[in-house]
Amino acid sequence: MNGVGIVVVSHSRALARAAVDLAAQMLAGRSLRLAVAAGLDETTLGTDALQIMAALKKVDGPDGVVVLMDLGSAILSTELALDLLDDPTGRDRVTLSPAPIVEGLVAAAVAAASGASRAEVAAEAAAALQAKQRHLGEQDSPVAGTGSGVLPGEPAARGDITVENLHGLHARPIARLVTLVREHDAQLSLRNLTTGAGPAAATSPTQLASLGAERGHRLQVEATGPAAQQALNAVLTLARSGFGDDDLLTSVPAAPAAQATVAANSLGPQGVSPGIGIGPARFWRTVPESRNGALPTPRNGSGPRDADAELRRLHGAREAVRRTLARLAASTQAELGAAEAAIFAAHEAILDDPAITGPAETAIRAGHSAEDGWTRAVAAAEQAFAALADSYQRERGHDVGAVGDQVLAELTGGGAGGPSGQGVLVVRDLTPAQAASLNREHITAIVLARGSASSHAAILARSRGIPAVAGAGDEVLQLPEATALVVDGTTGLLLVNPPEDMLSRYRATAAEQADCAAAEQARSGEPAVTRDGRRVHVQANLGSVQDALDAARLGADGAGLVRTEFLFLDRTAAPGVDEQEQLYRQIAEAMPGLRVTFRTLDVGGDKPVPYLRSAPEANPFLGVRGVRLTLASPQLLRDQLTALVRVAHEHPLGIMVPMVSTPGELQQVHVLLADVLQAETGGVRPPGLELGVMIEVPAAALKAAAFAGLVDFVSIGTNDLTQYTLAAERGHAELSALGDALDPGVLRLVEAVCHAGAGRFRVGVCGEAAADPLAGSVLTALGVTELSVSPAALPAVKARLREVDLTALAKLLPACLALPDAAAVRSALTSVQP
Ligand code: PEP
Ligand code: MG
Repeated sequence: MNGVGIVVVSHSRALARAAVDLAAQMLAGRSLRLAVAAGLDETTLGTDALQIMAALKKVDGPDGVVVLMDLGSAILSTELALDLLDDPTGRDRVTLSPAPIVEGLVAAAVAAASGASRAEVAAEAAAALQAKQRHLGEQDSPVAGTGSGVLPGEPAARGDITVENLHGLHARPIARLVTLVREHDAQLSLRNLTTGAGPAAATSPTQLASLGAERGHRLQVEATGPAAQQALNAVLTLARSGFGDDDLLTSVPAAPAAQATVAANSLGPQGVSPGIGIGPARFWRTVPESRNGALPTPRNGSGPRDADAELRRLHGAREAVRRTLARLAASTQAELGAAEAAIFAAHEAILDDPAITGPAETAIRAGHSAEDGWTRAVAAAEQAFAALADSYQRERGHDVGAVGDQVLAELTGGGAGGPSGQGVLVVRDLTPAQAASLNREHITAIVLARGSASSHAAILARSRGIPAVAGAGDEVLQLPEATALVVDGTTGLLLVNPPEDMLSRYRATAAEQADCAAAEQARSGEPAVTRDGRRVHVQANLGSVQDALDAARLGADGAGLVRTEFLFLDRTAAPGVDEQEQLYRQIAEAMPGLRVTFRTLDVGGDKPVPYLRSAPEANPFLGVRGVRLTLASPQLLRDQLTALVRVAHEHPLGIMVPMVSTPGELQQVHVLLADVLQAETGGVRPPGLELGVMIEVPAAALKAAAFAGLVDFVSIGTNDLTQYTLAAERGHAELSALGDALDPGVLRLVEAVCHAGAGRFRVGVCGEAAADPLAGSVLTALGVTELSVSPAALPAVKARLREVDLTALAKLLPACLALPDAAAVRSALTSVQP
């Protein structure tokens, strides 16, 4: 039987059946493809995506399906069911109708039974309210644009709350409120009794924000629906806890618009990449045009559009952004903690905000493209924020804009975006991919609101030679575009709108530093030989072919660490052997004749890869990461070893295994490598091929002798070794002083490794401490013979080593190892070191 199918999705099976009975009365015996997906069972209220999927399949046919849904989660479950359909073309035959379920079903059933097309059936359903509206006379909703803030009839429950939060009801409290309300089978609305604003639907972040609820304002909450009282109680409890926020008592200064120095958080910014950078403040924009008010070009030109197809595109783009947000939330939670990750929950709530999705859908149904409809809806929501009285809450409009931009980028294929112009990039944090895309000719410095010296964004800033400060606090994100900034990445100074005389002083210092750097660069091709005649191999840490070219130009003695994970991140599947071989070869060829040490994939922990492992870990830094993960995915490791072995036939090449804890792990890698050599060359090992491990786990440092015979070299990863030794997370802005590799505890581990290695294997350091002016010298005095640093740091590190007398320094070390902490070591040595 052909004809449009109809699916009724409801929280209540009884309600759905009754609605179907009513519609059947109108059909006068004509037949119809109709299925019901309602209730979790006969009596339990709820919706179930699998049930909906089965109903869709049951009535699907060449003419397609129209779905009518009742409240809130019925829509979400239906969207999920569409995502679950194994036949993607099937999704294009489905129209989700916004019509009210009883009136819509009656109208749709009559139309479908009379042979109408899917578009006609959907249009009939959508128009089903008109008769009733005409009869009663149209009434405007008190909440502009949506009407969804009004509860039908008398509320079943009502209560008042006072906003205690310092910044009022801002993005994160709102996100928690919306999430909580969605868990209940009830409809809630809020009214600001202090200002008279509202009502606002409690499921709409934008409407809630437009209440302008500041600290001290009284709000009235009204609830209807089966779980009205329960939902109201939950909201009152949440409100009493400050909506789960910790900003009840703390005071954060407002954005400094015209003052000279940002005291952005209690610690102040921290210098993480040396040098001075001056320029106007720029921000990361996902879609630059949308910020300038220009709408992106509609994908299909201005001709007639298939509204369903456009809606489907918008849905797909929102789902893609949802996945990105989930990934960011997971990595942020692992790196910075739950509080910081909460912003992504707020962004997800914006993504589902009916005050944005509703108008966007309406615009698309009226003939606009998905891009156009979405941009208009987002712009209207941003304007609602702009009209708020409180400046902090006004700034929350940035969050709406940021989410809007991300969806638009997905729609237009605009990708990850970039800085809003040339100057100083001010950004919360940077992903490796974003940092790698920066052009240092355009970006004179980076100000990270979050992060610390060993966060990956900071490492990448150093490797690209861009001055940077980290941990500047989220307040810097509110600076107006083009604010004049001076960044000193050596001292951690950030100046905002400095007076002209100060600006010229910094310009002069920057010029002096540039002269000094030029002098160091002029000699960087020469070996680094200390004053007492010891040769130190200064190698480079690489994350791209460009890094390798830079390192060769700046006189690297080789590459001590190629972070191959940059090839594996930000994609949906692992690269194949050929792709890897090609990239590794390009890197090796950029450094002809020099040994290049490739680290096998080091992901997990702070570098999650979505396609590799999804099981959540309570503490990913102590979880399945580095070699633990690659041994658990042997094919992945085999592919990588195969690609490296192929390149090793033409170039001196090291393979380095990360996060090793026991010699047994390395033995397993040996077995895999032997297999690969057998398959590739009949078991012949390329003469220039070496195998080594990273020492990042304290236990591995203490038993380093156990690796003798298994390795040609070890490289100490002081970033991880320090965080594990001091139990101080490497990216934690407040723990950066504690997590200093010059702590005597860490230095003793380095000493133990050098002792174990003497005459058995070479010992290098490739953590960030290698480039630290003092730590680099101390590490070499302890017996390390190879330092690997970011390419940009090569000339300065070599220049400093030429000034050091390692024999004299070594004599001071026993006393240093007995000191209580890194600060004491630094002050003991700073007076005697150049
Ligand atoms: C280290 O831990 O010191 C290291 C070099 O590895 P990564 O920073 O890539 O974790
Ligand atoms: Mg590491």
